[in-house]
Amino acid sequence: NKTCVAIDGPAGAGKSTVAKLVARQLGLLYIDTGAMYRAVTLKALREGLDLTDHEQLTALARRTKIELVPGAKQLVLLDGEDVTEEIRSPEVSRHVSLVAKVPGVRAILVEQQRRMASETGVVMDGRDIGTVVLPQADIKIFLTASAEERANRRAKELANKGYTIDIAKLIKEIEERDYIDSHREVSPLVAAADATIIDSSNLSIDEVVKEIIKLIGN
Ligand code: C5P
Repeated sequence: NKTCVAIDGPAGAGKSTVAKLVARQLGLLYIDTGAMYRAVTLKALREGLDLTDHEQLTALARRTKIELVPGAKQLVLLDGEDVTEEIRSPEVSRHVSLVAKVPGVRAILVEQQRRMASETGVVMDGRDIGTVVLPQADIKIFLTASAEERANRRAKELANKGYTIDIAKLIKEIEERDYIDSHREVSPLVAAADATIIDSSNLSIDEVVKEIIKLIGN
């Protein structure tokens, strides 16, 4: 089964939850491209790099090995180290858009993403999958929701992990991240012309999954 599903959209729209379920139902490999940008960001923060230095960030991405290990809980390995939890920290979330806007970093990660998708059928989620990474995808979804709803969902996720949340601050951070992602020069966050737009503000996860499976069946 070499079906290829692209799911894009802003932070907190439910992409990864939905993408995982669709992948499981259809027997496809789930690939979380945001995790790759997060892993590079974590390494840059650890090394204390200047996050506006594009050359250094590109060089860092080049000497970084990121592995996504499929399983009930997908593991993210950064140079062999399990960073699955650490890449979701507020610290990484706050800085990842700065790293993701660097053209050299994107070129390196996009190449790896295309290689993964050339081997098997995939559900890939991110910001530029339908537009740049896999423009030939069989089906493209642009999943969105109101900023408030997205912040509420992220707050729940973070609270479950034991972080204390300031919801107003979280809304502001999500909006800032979306702004940078949508306004960067290379591969800005935008729906592909042939994507189906789904607003999940008032839909359950199950309803979104059903809708996507229905679209794929057509
Ligand atoms: O999906 P997630 O919220 O984990 O993505 C984190 C960040 O990585 C996004 O805000 C964006 O800056 C970047 N990203 C990207 N292109 C992708 C996936 C993620 O620029 N395909």
